[in-house]
Amino acid sequence: MTRRRRGSPKPIFRGLDFEGKSCTRKVRFANEREALERAGYLAVAHPTELGKCAYACEFCGGWHLATRRAD
Ligand SMILES: [Zn+2]
Repeated sequence: MTRRRRGSPKPIFRGLDFEGKSCTRKVRFANEREALERAGYLAVAHPTELGKCAYACEFCGGWHLATRRAD
């Protein structure tokens, strides 16, 4: 009966059953440096938006960006 709450304080990739959201629909980076460079660019280009953080993907072995949540 446990309900998963949306809005986890940290966008940690849990590797469960959401490959589509976590991997296949996202931009893929070859390594953490490229992902962080993209995150840095986005932070400059869209300063009013929430920041991004990079996480390693166990589906494709690459890296993706996750949006930080405000709460
Ligand atoms: Zn992936």
